[in-house]
Amino acid sequence: MKRTHHCNELRPTQIGQTVTLAGWVHSRRDLGGLIFIDIRDREGRTQTVFDPSDMSKELFERAATMRSESVITVTGKVRQRPAGTNNTKIATGEVEVMAQSFEILNLAEVLPFPVDDPEVASKVNEELRLKYRYLDLRRPEMARNLRVRSKAATATRVFLDEQGFLEVETPILFKSTPEGAREFLVPSRVHPGEFYALPQSPQQFKQILMVAGVERYFQIARCFRDEDQRADRQLEFTQVDLEMSFIDREDIYNLIEGLLKRVWKVALNVDIPTPFKRITYEEALNRYGIDKPDTRFAMEIVDMTEEFRASGFKVFSGAVAGGGVVKALNAKGMADATQGQIETMTEYAKSFGAKGLAFIKIENGEWKSPIVKFFSDAEKAALTQKLAIQEGDLILFAADQWLNACEILGRIRLYCAEVLKTKGKLTIPADQFNFLWVVDFPLLSFDKEQNRWYSSHHPFTAPVADDIPLLKTEPKKVRGQHYDIVVNGTELGGGSIRIHQPDVQKTIFEEILQIPPDMVKARFGYMLEAFRYGAPPHGGIALGFDRLIAILCGTPSIRDVIAFPKTAKATDLMTESPAPVEPKQLRDLHIDLRVPKKEQPPA
Ligand code: ASP
Repeated sequence: MKRTHHCNELRPTQIGQTVTLAGWVHSRRDLGGLIFIDIRDREGRTQTVFDPSDMSKELFERAATMRSESVITVTGKVRQRPAGTNNTKIATGEVEVMAQSFEILNLAEVLPFPVDDPEVASKVNEELRLKYRYLDLRRPEMARNLRVRSKAATATRVFLDEQGFLEVETPILFKSTPEGAREFLVPSRVHPGEFYALPQSPQQFKQILMVAGVERYFQIARCFRDEDQRADRQLEFTQVDLEMSFIDREDIYNLIEGLLKRVWKVALNVDIPTPFKRITYEEALNRYGIDKPDTRFAMEIVDMTEEFRASGFKVFSGAVAGGGVVKALNAKGMADATQGQIETMTEYAKSFGAKGLAFIKIENGEWKSPIVKFFSDAEKAALTQKLAIQEGDLILFAADQWLNACEILGRIRLYCAEVLKTKGKLTIPADQFNFLWVVDFPLLSFDKEQNRWYSSHHPFTAPVADDIPLLKTEPKKVRGQHYDIVVNGTELGGGSIRIHQPDVQKTIFEEILQIPPDMVKARFGYMLEAFRYGAPPHGGIALGFDRLIAILCGTPSIRDVIAFPKTAKATDLMTESPAPVEPKQLRDLHIDLRVPKKEQPPA
């Protein structure tokens, strides 16, 4: 019994036709002697009706035993639903199929959780959903996510093909280059004691492909980082990874704007305006306190350093004297913040090393705060004017080194927005997408603990040409040709124009990053060598594909858009992985285990 139609296909035009549907029993209702079975497939669902006066007793009784999620085929005649019984919620809701025969292809046992009711299903605990992922994925919401993902991947391939890109696969068994995140190692059987590493990204291969003359490469690439899991991180994740030769930053902006425009159109039928706005790293931190600003709401940070340089309030003037800054934020309409909310914000400040959080509540025409008595009239006037202070506002301060002060208020700004949203004082339309390029990142950041510079992006990023002379004298001031693409406060991806001169790359490795020459040779020797045989100028970018899909699907968790994700504890609950292996397997790999004993639970 082969299907003639899918379950989202029948309309009044098919009335009178005999059809066969195949799918899952979405629901069964026994009503007034009739049995109604909604049959569901990937496309949608259709109501079928079993009438005892129309079929053998045996067949009817068998229909009555059919459990939810059994796989069946039903053959019958399409008819108009009786007046007043149309279901406007589904596309096939004007018709039903009068069953003449049916076949149970697989009788389902009672399910661990229901998949037919979105309300109930959305409350099922995630561990259960992941253990029975094949059931979870049957839910129409999840099926839609998979479809959006597939559509976006296809649109990406089509667009990049149109732009002259070649899709090239790069190895999964790569080599250990322990610079960035922690890697996964794969022991070699044939080379005892040696290891491959899974790639954190195809970065080095894609640059080599430019030396190979490919000119335009892309890949929807799997990457692996052995990092702690978060809502928007997985041990393995997917990037739209690309690289181009003979281009500058503008070419990348242009290309990615075109790509995202296409993907949004295909997946959501939304036209996103281009070109995207741009903001420098410094401005992003000054105004929003973060390098991936959510610009869907203002609540901008204001600099008060000059106003408080000579203040009688020593916490502020002292910070300025120590080379720091004074920043302030007006959380409009949050003067009624609860003690708990103030504590949460104070904890944020403390997590950045601040001693506490200074704030003022503007209530009943009064500035309520223990610090106000230290402020001069001029200081108060400056605050009122620069922060547009009004009744009901909450003013928050950070007095610290520049980056810290910005980041403290940046974190608090996001928290305040959440609070204001729950209070109904801030509304952000679900279909608003604020894309933004963040540019002019510092090439290097300083690691205080290790007392050395490290690459803000990665060591292959080219410095802005004008800043190259500063590399050895004032490394802090050197800007990188790095760019991030941000949407609604989420970093969607980043990339850079690369160094293509072997001597500059060597300087960065050895003199700036202080990697010993023998280690540079062992890890990156082949790249430096390749760059000596004709390397074109090149640059690229990688977009986090899982995040991109999560944004398109309007879900906060990338686990909702990955078919088989890992839990927060890095396990796959369905296949029960990771798992121990046989001693023989370990012997073949020349591995001796020294596993710490599991702690005994207290008796
Ligand atoms: N490989 C980089 C990353 O994974 C992106 C790039 O520079 O193209 O972040």
